[in-house]
Amino acid sequence: MKTIIEPFKIKVVEPIRMTTREYREEMLRKAGFNVFSLHAEDVLIDLLTDSGTAAMSAEQWAGIMRGDESYAGATSFHRLYNKVAELTGFEHVLPTHQGRASERILFEIMAGPGKVVPNNNHFDTTRANVEASGAKAVDLVIDEGRLVASRHPFKGNMNVERLEGLFSEVGAENIPLVMLTVTNNSGGGQPVSLENIRAVRDVCQKHGTPLFLDACRFAENAYLIKKREPGCSDRSVPEIVREMFDLSDGATISAKKDGLVNIGGLLLFRDGELARRARNLSIMTEGFPTYGGLAGRDLEAIAQGLEEVVQEDYLHYRLRSIEYLSEMLLAGGVPIMEPPGGHAIYIDAASFCPRIPPERFPGQAVVCALYRHAGIRAVEIGSLMFGGHGRAPELELVRLAFPRRVYTQSHVDYVGEAVLDVFAQRDTLRPLAIVEEPPQLRHFTCRLEEIGD
Ligand SMILES: *Cc1c(COP(=O)(O)O)cnc(C)c1O
Repeated sequence: MKTIIEPFKIKVVEPIRMTTREYREEMLRKAGFNVFSLHAEDVLIDLLTDSGTAAMSAEQWAGIMRGDESYAGATSFHRLYNKVAELTGFEHVLPTHQGRASERILFEIMAGPGKVVPNNNHFDTTRANVEASGAKAVDLVIDEGRLVASRHPFKGNMNVERLEGLFSEVGAENIPLVMLTVTNNSGGGQPVSLENIRAVRDVCQKHGTPLFLDACRFAENAYLIKKREPGCSDRSVPEIVREMFDLSDGATISAKKDGLVNIGGLLLFRDGELARRARNLSIMTEGFPTYGGLAGRDLEAIAQGLEEVVQEDYLHYRLRSIEYLSEMLLAGGVPIMEPPGGHAIYIDAASFCPRIPPERFPGQAVVCALYRHAGIRAVEIGSLMFGGHGRAPELELVRLAFPRRVYTQSHVDYVGEAVLDVFAQRDTLRPLAIVEEPPQLRHFTCRLEEIGD
């Protein structure tokens, strides 16, 4: 059979409220051309983020009812512990309220002033937490990872020579840990190969430095390894997942991604002494270590989510939907980051509308056009998000991130059509200027205006 069906039936539906172009025009103006200020009910297809937006399964909802709310040693914690230990092999499992809480605790115990933390690409909260500890965050992704059109299968890989170079330059005593983000979110959701994790691990072992994974999308990374890495096509996803974790000494995880839940995180260690220090910090800000800022029912939902996310029918449907959309867009000549990674399509807005210079926000012009034309909410990752204060990002991107198990094939077709329509009218896209701006993280709350050429 050629058609790949969504491997689920729908038991509960959430209506999408249809809107007209005129209505959306009005809402866009009210929102100051910033889609973060839209009301979600005015959005038809919401591709703002894949974080915390998953649809839970009947079994997860059953788990929510079963959740044991004991303060300490809850049955739900033990169910989560057993699942995580089986999947990752790590002995020490700390729940947290979300990924950034795990990061804060990890870098407070391991980083600090004068230290340097290498990563393929730090995610923004990871970088912020490294820097808040007083340490420096260094990105060492391979050169292909910065090229939009390179079809390298593992554009999330770390440049191992540059890692060696960093050890010689600053000394192993100043590198408390090495991190690898799988998949590499800030670099386009690109996967990291097992071969690269092994090579990075070898460098770490030589210097006695622990390797940690930022493993938010560990299952998508494992499935892309199965599809793309020589010798891996016959291995099961759980087996590949286990090898990824076996090569490392710990991990931070936001369960809002491959945990298939709406809130939650994990902090994992092999070393008992580090885990003991992390538990002490966790008690101060997250809660007793067997619930870590979550309710017992959340722990149940994560345990079940971790079981479902490594199922290959699910991963096949998810990764194929994204690949299918990428093929549709490439056939229409739309410039996107190739090959697509696990959770999103990234449009290259600089080539999409070359008439609009970076300081007039080409990515935001595409975002506004997609909302106006089709009620789709995407997010700009370019000069609006990272520019200002004299900074200029390397790329002008628009991300279409797919919530897990939420949209069906006809939704994906609709998104593809909308992007192709906007691409056909790309000469009519309007440049933008900021009219109101907060001192930090301006993309969340700033207001813009469309300006004449
Ligand atoms: C989402 C994310 C985080 C932070 O997790 P939160 O749950 O949003 O706090 C860290 N790293 C990566 C790669 C992420 O995608």
